[in-house]
Amino acid sequence: MFMTRSRRAAALAVCLCSALALIANDSWLDPYRQPALRIMAAATGNDDAWQRLALLTDTFGPRLSGTPALEAALRWAAEEMKKDFDEVRLDPVMVPHWVRGAESLEIVTPQPGTLAMLGLGNSIGTGGAPLEAELLVVRSFNDLEAHAGRAKGRIVLFNVPYTTYGETVQYRSNGPSRAAAHGAVAALVRSVGPPGLRTPHTGALRYASDRPQIPAAAIATEDADRLQRMQDRGTRVVLRLRMEAKFLPDAQSANLVAEYTGRERPEEIVAIGCHIDSWDVGAGATDDGGGCVAMWEAVRVLRRLELRPRRTIRVVFWTNEENGLRGGLAYRDKYRSQLDRHVLMLESDGGVFRPTGFGFTGPEHARALVTQIGSLLAPIGADRIGPNGGGADIGPSVEAGNVPAMSLEVDGSKYFLIHHTQADTVDKIEPADIARCVAAVGVMAYITADMPQSLR
Ligand SMILES: [Zn+2]
Repeated sequence: MFMTRSRRAAALAVCLCSALALIANDSWLDPYRQPALRIMAAATGNDDAWQRLALLTDTFGPRLSGTPALEAALRWAAEEMKKDFDEVRLDPVMVPHWVRGAESLEIVTPQPGTLAMLGLGNSIGTGGAPLEAELLVVRSFNDLEAHAGRAKGRIVLFNVPYTTYGETVQYRSNGPSRAAAHGAVAALVRSVGPPGLRTPHTGALRYASDRPQIPAAAIATEDADRLQRMQDRGTRVVLRLRMEAKFLPDAQSANLVAEYTGRERPEEIVAIGCHIDSWDVGAGATDDGGGCVAMWEAVRVLRRLELRPRRTIRVVFWTNEENGLRGGLAYRDKYRSQLDRHVLMLESDGGVFRPTGFGFTGPEHARALVTQIGSLLAPIGADRIGPNGGGADIGPSVEAGNVPAMSLEVDGSKYFLIHHTQADTVDKIEPADIARCVAAVGVMAYITADMPQSLR
C-alpha cells in the first residue's frame, strides 16, 4: 500500500504508542501466570521428551526423503499421536529421492591414503568409475576467481573456515557450480561447521542451471587444513573420488498434521512444527527430531493439565526440509485458503538445547504481546524475544499468508558441531534442556492460542 511520508510517520507513531501502552499494561496476562507456571512445572518434571526422542531416533535412525525409515517414522508418530490429539492425518507429498550409494575419497599422490568424506546431498555421482584429478585448494570465491586458469580439469577444494552458517554454507550450496564454471571436474568443501573430531558434514548443494553438474563432497576440517598445507608447500596432490550418488524417481511421503482443537475459535490456528526428515547420516536427533518431539510433548502437557485453548493448536511434522522443502511448499498450497486464519506459525529447527526464548517476525503490536508472554518464561531462562523468527518449513506459508512467524531459540554452541553429521544423535541432548524447550513452546503456544487479542 502506498503511504505518504507523513502518513507513514503518523502510522508508525500510533503503532509505537499502542505497543508501548501494551508493554506498560500487561494485566491481561494475569489469568495466564498460574497456567504458565503449571505448564513449566509439568514439562520439566520428567524426561518424557528425551525418552520419546531416543525412542524415535533409536528405532528409525536417519530419515532421508524417499527412505522406508522416514515413512515408518511418520506412520508410527501418526499412530501414537492419535492418543494425544483430536485429529491426526497424513497429507501426501511427493519428495525427491536422492541416494548416496558407496563413496570414497583417496589421496593417490604423494602417499596413498583415504580421507573421511560425505557426498553432498543432491550431488551427481562419478559415473560408475573413479574420478582422478589434481587438487586445487582455494580459500574463497575471490581466490577461485584469481586462480580460475588453474581450475580446469582439477578437483577444487573450498577451504573456507566456518564463520556463521549463513555465510559459510554458500560454499556448500554454490561452490560446486562456481568451480564447474571454470572447468573443475569435481568439488570438495571444507565441512560447514566449527572444527570437530574429523567428522565431515553433508548438506544440500544447488546446481546452477547454466553450469555443468560435477560431483561434490564435504571433507573434515582437519583434512582440508592438511591439503591446504600440502599445496602451500608446493606438493602436487592427486585425489581419487568415487561416488555412486544419484536420484531415483520421486517417492511418496507426507506431512503429518495433528490438531488439538480450539474450544471457541477452532478455525483459528496456531501452527507449531518441525521437519521429520533428516540426512542419511547420524540419527537426525537435533536436526530435527528434537524439534518434532518438543512440539508434540508441548501439546501432551496442555492436555494433561486440561488446558484447552480458545484456538486450535496444529502440530505439523513437515517432510523433505533437507533436500527439497516439498513439505513446506505442499502445506502452503494445501492450506492456502486457511493461511489468513493462522494467527502464528512457530518452527523449531535449531536444536533442542537450553532454550533462550523465541525469534519473532510480525506486526509491532504482536511483538509487544509475545514479548509480554515471553516474560512468563523467565523462570526457565527462555524469556528473550529476538528480532527474527521463521523457519525453512513455515517460510512459504508465512510469506504467502503474511503470517506472524516464530522460531524457538536455543543455546546454539553445539548445534553446528554435529549438524548433518554421523554425530547427530540423542546423547548430545540433555533431558533437562529438551524439557525446557517443551515448557517454552507449551506456554507460548497455549497463550497465543488462548488470548482474547489476535497477533494478526
Ligand atoms: Zn533442520
